[in-house]
Amino acid sequence: MVINSMKLYLKRENLIHNMEYLRKSKGKEVLPVVKANAYGHGVEEIVQILYDNGQREFAVARYVEAERILKMGLKDLKILIFESIGDLSLVKDKEELEISANTYEELEKIIDFGVDSKRVQIKIDFGFGRNGILIRDLQRLKEYIDKKQLNFRGIYSHLFAVNYEEGLEYIGKFHEILRYLGKERFQMIHLQNSAGVLNFDCEDVTHLRVGMLIYGLQEVGFYDENLKQVFSLEGRVAGVRDISENRYIAYGTKEELGFLSTKYIAKIKIGYADGFLKINEKSNCLINNKEFPIVIVSMDNTFIEVDTSVKEGDRVVLYHDISKSVAHNGMNIYEMLTLLSPRLEREII
Ligand SMILES: *Cc1c(COP(=O)(O)O)cnc(C)c1O
Repeated sequence: MVINSMKLYLKRENLIHNMEYLRKSKGKEVLPVVKANAYGHGVEEIVQILYDNGQREFAVARYVEAERILKMGLKDLKILIFESIGDLSLVKDKEELEISANTYEELEKIIDFGVDSKRVQIKIDFGFGRNGILIRDLQRLKEYIDKKQLNFRGIYSHLFAVNYEEGLEYIGKFHEILRYLGKERFQMIHLQNSAGVLNFDCEDVTHLRVGMLIYGLQEVGFYDENLKQVFSLEGRVAGVRDISENRYIAYGTKEELGFLSTKYIAKIKIGYADGFLKINEKSNCLINNKEFPIVIVSMDNTFIEVDTSVKEGDRVVLYHDISKSVAHNGMNIYEMLTLLSPRLEREII
């Protein structure tokens, strides 16, 4: 029996291409950000592909995300956790985990707890109120580092700028901080996320700390045509029904749904429980490379208005034009992808 399911296919070649492209074109190492289930792609799959290609350093937001990667049992991993760790005993003996010092007090706490500073990365806050050690604590920090003769795994900050000039100003500030604290104390230096990489060059950094770009995704307004999208959400038509005599399509009347003249409906096995939300209704999908409108998204299935050319087993692609879907749904790409649920099968191709 053929099960005509929908899956999130992950193109190994494209992921590796994006990593290599970023590394070569920018002349920096890449620290891939695999938080939020690797932006919905599937963290085990993405980490495994990168690991097989020689990547050993990864970054996540939370401890639970790092724990999930550790369970894969891979050797020589280094996983940076951005957010503060509530209970340091969780990480103390896990040599693979690198932790962030998000305030000056936290740094003292981490060192006092006995975590080697070579596993710590200092986060500097330029005043965006996210997290990081504040500029006003820099002098204390410098005195503390000097007194204890500390060398760190890394130092980083978040480059968020409303405009180009402001961005340059922050890069300048970051450079000054590095000089003040002593650049040689840090093995890794990183400042730019994906938008930062597309907008700015930054000499001092050793790594690009990127999520979006490695998955080949870009926000509206940024465009680098060398990047290749990694995911493809596709599968096969599970069945086609002639509903010309029916008043209803799945859970609604044709009238309510705005599909009064619909004759044929194709069903596919994906629904909002997979993270393919109802908001996708009235957007288009591709069947046999032709666009057809999505009528209803239910919990487990989605129904598409088709014509007589469409048959059970035909190839269906959702989100075939991600920027159109983003515009239709009024969401950003990060939101749409991180919503994809664990129930949806992932397959590396
Ligand atoms: C999520 C995150 C990133 C990655 O952001 P992209 O825009 O996907 O490149 C980088 N740094 C930090 C601190 C993050 O939280």
